[in-house]
Amino acid sequence: MTEIQHIKELLKIPQTITIVSHRNPDGDALGSSLALRLYLEKKGHLINVILPSEYPKIFGFLHKANETLIYDIDTDRCHNVIDSSKIIFFLDFNAFDRIDKLGDYIAKSEATTIMIDHHLYPEPIADYVISKPEASSTCEMIYDFLMSYDEVKLMDKQIGECIFTGMITDTGCFKYATNQNTYRVAAALKEVGVDDYGLNDKIFNTLTEKQLRLMGHCLANRMELIPEYGTGIIYLTKQDYEDFDIGRGDTEGIVNQILTLEGIKVAAFIREQPTIVKLSLRSKGDISVNEIAANHFNGGGHKNAAGGAAYAKLEDIISRFKQVLPKYLEKTTQT
Ligand code: 5GP
Ligand code: MN
Repeated sequence: MTEIQHIKELLKIPQTITIVSHRNPDGDALGSSLALRLYLEKKGHLINVILPSEYPKIFGFLHKANETLIYDIDTDRCHNVIDSSKIIFFLDFNAFDRIDKLGDYIAKSEATTIMIDHHLYPEPIADYVISKPEASSTCEMIYDFLMSYDEVKLMDKQIGECIFTGMITDTGCFKYATNQNTYRVAAALKEVGVDDYGLNDKIFNTLTEKQLRLMGHCLANRMELIPEYGTGIIYLTKQDYEDFDIGRGDTEGIVNQILTLEGIKVAAFIREQPTIVKLSLRSKGDISVNEIAANHFNGGGHKNAAGGAAYAKLEDIISRFKQVLPKYLEKTTQT
C-alpha cells in the first residue's frame, strides 16, 4: 500500500484528530490546516487545529480560523486535545524544532502521526510522510490529497479559500515556486467559486500606515547592497522594533522588496530580537539559500526561501553573512 492508501485506511472510520502546523504560522500553515479540518469534518471526524503561536490577524477571515487553539496561550487545553487524539497531522513543517515545546509533548504521544509538507529534507518524525519539495505549498498538496478521495463534491468555496490562501502566500501570487499543477489547482479552485481577486485584496492590500512607513525606513536607512555578489541586506535593530512598535507580521514582505532591484539575486533580512538574531533569506534561480541558512545560521527551508537564527550580536551576524557569500556566489564585475 502507498502512504496515501494507508492514511485513507486510517480515516475510513470517524477519528479524533489534531492538526498541527508551525510556529509563526503563515498563510500556508493556517490555510492547509483549516482546509484539511473543514474537509475531514465533512467526513465525520472530530478535529482540532493547534498552532504553537498566533497567526497574523489578516487571516482571521478564513472559515473556523477563530477556533484554532494556540499552544502558547492555551497549553493545558492543547495537552488534553493531544492526549485524546488518535491521529496527529503535521502540516507545512518537517522537523520538531519548527514547533518548539509542542514538539516535545507530541513526541510522547501514542497517536499515529502523518506529515504532509513541501520543505526539503524531512526528518523522520512521523509514521507516515508525504513530502513533496516541488509543490508550491502544503495547500497544493492538501488539495491533491483531498482530491484523491472519491468525494470531489465535498470541495467547496470555504475549503477552496483556505487552499488558495496558502498557494498565493507561498508563491508571492504565483511569482515563484510554481509548477504546472499549481495552476491546475488554482483553476479548479476558481471553478468552485473562490474569489481570487477578493482574496488577494484581503491578504495583500492590508498594510497599516505603520507597516508602510517601516518599509520606507528599511529602504531608506537600513538597506545595504553588495553589488559584486548581487546581494542586498536589510537589517532592523532592537531600537527600530521599539521606535516603530513592530509586532508580529509587521515585517512581512520586506525581504522581497530587495529582490525587485535589477541584478540582485540574493536578499537577506536580518532582525535583532530580544535574545536572538533572526534571518530571512530569499534568492532567485539556482542559488540555494537553504544551504546558507543550514550551514551558518542553524536554519533551513527551501532553495529560494529559507531562514535561520543565531545567538550573537547583530553586527556579527551581518558580517558572518557577508563573509560566507563568496562560498555560494560567483563574484561579478559590474559594467
Ligand atoms: P521566513 O523567512 O518567511 O520566516 O521563512 C521562509 C522559510 O524559511 C520558511 O518557509 C521555512 O521553511 C524556513 N525557515 C525560516 N526560519 C527557519 C528556521 O529557523 N529553521 C528552519 N529550519 N527553517 C526556517
Ligand atoms: Mn509552506
